[in-house]
Amino acid sequence: MTTGLYPGSFDPITFGHIDIATRSSHIFDKVYVAVVSTRSTKSLMFNTDERLQLCTEALSHLKNVEVVSYSGLTVNAAKDFGAHAMIRGLRMGSDFDYEFELALNNQKLSPDIDTMYLMANLDHIYVKSSLIKEIASGGGQISHLVPTNVEEAIKAKLMN
Ligand code: ADP
Repeated sequence: MTTGLYPGSFDPITFGHIDIATRSSHIFDKVYVAVVSTRSTKSLMFNTDERLQLCTEALSHLKNVEVVSYSGLTVNAAKDFGAHAMIRGLRMGSDFDYEFELALNNQKLSPDIDTMYLMANLDHIYVKSSLIKEIASGGGQISHLVPTNVEEAIKAKLMN
């Protein structure tokens, strides 16, 4: 049985993330979508429980995908969940630089767990959680970027 771990902040989950999780679910027998619960350098709109819930709702149709949370090093989470590889998505050159650095550090930390990259779907290449939050806060349409549950959750946050 092959297991993959797709880690990220998912603040919040978007159609781009859902695409990567879906395609991963066709490659691996089991995929853990792993929501990181600590992220010191980023200010998040949603807390860990909220991000977990939004991901769980958005991915409930994928039977071999399970949403979990983790803290600490991602390579340790991958080991804890018995993953054979970590999964990440690549959109633009800017993603590549960051992901390359991350992968090299993870290789040093844990040479036995590799990272696998899936290229963004052309339809989702510009889909980015941070931009979606900005568009929503300016009153723009986001229904083509995130599922309904996420759209409602963002609007509710912005009203508070
Ligand atoms: P991070 O873990 O860096 O905070 P995110 O939670 O936003 O990033 O995303 C998790 C992973 O999903 C990253 O590898 C990111 O590049 C990828 N990703 C995000 N949005 C998309 C998208 N629209 N298409 C493909 N991959 C994406």
